[in-house]
Amino acid sequence: MTKWVYSFGGGKADGRADMADRLGGKGANLAEMSALGLPVPPGLTIVADACSYYFQNGHAFPDGLKAAVVEGLQRLESLTGRKFGGNSRPLLLAVRSGSRVSMPGMMDTVLNLGLNDETVLALAADTDDARFAWDSYRRFIEMYGGVVMGLGHDVFEEILEDEKARLGREQDTEMTAEEWQGLIARYKEMLAEEGFGFPGDPMAQLWGAVGAIFASWMNHRAVTYRLMHNIPSDWGTAVNIQAMVFGNLGNSSATGVAFTRNPSTGLKELYGEFLVNAQGEDVVAGIRTPQSITEKARIETGSDRPSLEKVMPEAFKEFLNVCNKLEAHFRDMLDLEFTIERGKLWMLQVRIGKRTAKAALKIAVDMVEEGLITAADAVDRIDPASLDQLLHPTIDPAARRDIIGTGLPASPGAASGEIIFTSEGAVAAEKEGRKVILVRTETSPEDIHGMQAAEGILTTRGGMTSHAAVVARGMGLPCVCGVGALRVDMRNRELVGPGIKLKEGDIISIDGSSGHVLKGVQPMLQPELSGDFERIMGWADRIRRMRVRTNAETPSDARAARAFGAEGIGLCRTEHMFFEGGRINVMREMILAETVEKRREALDQLLPMQRADFVELFEIMHGTPVTIRLLDPPLHEFLPKSDDEIDEVAAQIGMQPFHLRERIDALHEFNPMLGHRGCRLHISHPEIVEMQARAIFEAAVEAARETGEAVEPEIMVPVVGLKAELDYVKARIDEVARSVIAESGMDIAYLVGTMIELPRAALRAHVIAEVAEFFSYGTNDLTQTTFGMSRDDASSFLPTYIRKGIIDRDPFVNLDFDGVGELIKIAAERGRRTRPGLKLGICGEHGGDPVSIAFCEESGLDYVSCSPFRVPIAKLAAAQATIRNGKKR
Ligand code: ADP
Ligand code: MG
Ligand code: MG
Repeated sequence: MTKWVYSFGGGKADGRADMADRLGGKGANLAEMSALGLPVPPGLTIVADACSYYFQNGHAFPDGLKAAVVEGLQRLESLTGRKFGGNSRPLLLAVRSGSRVSMPGMMDTVLNLGLNDETVLALAADTDDARFAWDSYRRFIEMYGGVVMGLGHDVFEEILEDEKARLGREQDTEMTAEEWQGLIARYKEMLAEEGFGFPGDPMAQLWGAVGAIFASWMNHRAVTYRLMHNIPSDWGTAVNIQAMVFGNLGNSSATGVAFTRNPSTGLKELYGEFLVNAQGEDVVAGIRTPQSITEKARIETGSDRPSLEKVMPEAFKEFLNVCNKLEAHFRDMLDLEFTIERGKLWMLQVRIGKRTAKAALKIAVDMVEEGLITAADAVDRIDPASLDQLLHPTIDPAARRDIIGTGLPASPGAASGEIIFTSEGAVAAEKEGRKVILVRTETSPEDIHGMQAAEGILTTRGGMTSHAAVVARGMGLPCVCGVGALRVDMRNRELVGPGIKLKEGDIISIDGSSGHVLKGVQPMLQPELSGDFERIMGWADRIRRMRVRTNAETPSDARAARAFGAEGIGLCRTEHMFFEGGRINVMREMILAETVEKRREALDQLLPMQRADFVELFEIMHGTPVTIRLLDPPLHEFLPKSDDEIDEVAAQIGMQPFHLRERIDALHEFNPMLGHRGCRLHISHPEIVEMQARAIFEAAVEAARETGEAVEPEIMVPVVGLKAELDYVKARIDEVARSVIAESGMDIAYLVGTMIELPRAALRAHVIAEVAEFFSYGTNDLTQTTFGMSRDDASSFLPTYIRKGIIDRDPFVNLDFDGVGELIKIAAERGRRTRPGLKLGICGEHGGDPVSIAFCEESGLDYVSCSPFRVPIAKLAAAQATIRNGKKR
């Protein structure tokens, strides 16, 4: 029989931390904390499978679920000494969603469940606090109305504001028991008018809430979030039913959220916020400004409102103990939710804390030093893609800063852009290619699209744990929160402050590392990669089996890649070297030549240019291998297209325009991607490969003389499908090599290999490997030719494919393991059968994609090659692939 319900509390639990797939992350960790003997209000977890059942069976609960919950509730009653729906000491419940991975703020929670016109009196008597009891009751109606009945928050807000105004109350805290009671009467009137009967029966309330939480799995926000984060929709959410504890029972009660280390910087210091006499989401909602947990943080933020350490020293001390215990247990930085009820600490949630990339590195390095984790653990836990964040620009400190406000440094990096006040506006502006800073009072889950479209986020309210801050950190977006001096005036569409009035569309900059908001565009600096970054990369380098090279042809790219630690060039696209300056016309003369003599003349002119480029590249990359691909693209890419261009080029190269047009027409191809390109060009015009080989070998000689280090060029022949093609081209290369060696008197070690970018080459790899000394998978073309799908044209139908579930990922971004991947494996296996130790690499864009890199590791490739900027990401991903592959074996 399926176990639908798991219990926790009272120092015991049915579940464990590693059961998140059944219990959801929240339920699994509540169980873990209970089993550790930490103070957790007892509760039950309904497994996520019940949610899937609910959707597959027309919103029905599975058999046996109700009985199991009733049984579990009895255990809660005996553990708490309270009774659900009881007329004295009533048990109140929190009904909380909780999916396998955290989806912050996406689904719903109902607090204070079990209150009705009778139990509210019992609660008042029991706590000796009528005001608290009625406040809790009105909160329950608001949450139930929102979550279960689907009413907007504003319908309650409106009545509340109206009552407060009528009674002359400014703060909620000024409201008396009777006044809350009056408000509740108005709430109920409104519900009745809207046609909702508010259920008084606690059991009916409970099942209403459970159903609503299941249903919240499919709400628009949650669906969007899952799409964005690749979370399968059939996981479902678990539901936690937990005894309530109260942070709103007067001034010895409080509620808060904390991180065991600073989530922005990674510093080992407890970091968090709390509110006295508050409940639930009050802290993150930005309604009241929260206070710091530690004295240190209070002083640093210059707040005059006391810290938890000061106002509740006992509870603070206990909390600190719990934090230390939990960190040692989970061996990671944690994100905690807690409540203090009349001086007694209760833990409500623990999860691995989200953090900036910078903090992730620092925490991992520190934990290795503290002996909590191994270097391999440290490497394994950094998200390679997050390193991107570190490569974000920062504002040049030397620049004059025209600061118009300061808020909390909520997510690092700096950005400039137009002020836009709405998410729709941000999305529209981004579509037009404009840069946007999304400026809001505070953000909510509905703003995700706008946040994605923006360069940075600015809010005028909310703390470090507000929605804007948490989500921005997750996205790697710069964010400044809670800039109290500025105010968003939506009516006039202005951002106003003392002596400041900015319109929508005006440019501002934000610095998410200092919290500054600045006028205008700011000069930016590129970040330096040292310290923790270097340590982690050092460990990754030691662990990693595959080498990481770069795709580069310009000296500046090669230099940048070397600085990032590239171990050679995996792809130098020689055609890119011919596009600039005066070269293109020489190139054009070469292409347009009608006789071999004419073509040789042009090639003779290109030779010294090409040689000089290679010398520079070899010098920069000295001591590492450099793979040079022979001229690859269809030649017409170099030719002018419009009439004006044709006339201009004709004049420049001294040709009659009509003649030029004729030649261009003659070179026209119906499908250039599958046309006269790659090795086919070199077979038609061997003088091209001869020139390129000569340039390479002469440059190798010159660079070796310069640097004193031998250069090992690897010459790569593109678009090979037949062994005979490679035979022909390699013979030309070898011949040139013999001459240059004889002329220079210097021996040159070189390799000749091929791209594997046609299915035929992959299938015939055992034959091709008789000639090829290395293979480099050109996975862009291999994907195109395997799918028979042009990458440049795929954008018109691939999104539809993904939307309709025909495929789940873009094969040009994440390698298609099943099809293209199988060809890769076939070529590796067959190639190495002929030539054991055949060097294998990948030079398509997939070489910088962590998921694809893991596949390369499994397939036994020797190296990946990616764009310079992605080298650190690829190195880290390669190390993780080594670790995980080792574990699999
Ligand atoms: P989320 O998944 O959005 O974080 P939670 O289930 O954690 O939602 O609930 C939100 C807040 O409600 C918590 O941070 C906590 O302050 C409050 N809360 C949850 N459970 C309880 C409880 N048993 N007693 C008191 N407050 C609770
Ligand atoms: Mg929570
Ligand atoms: Mg190609």
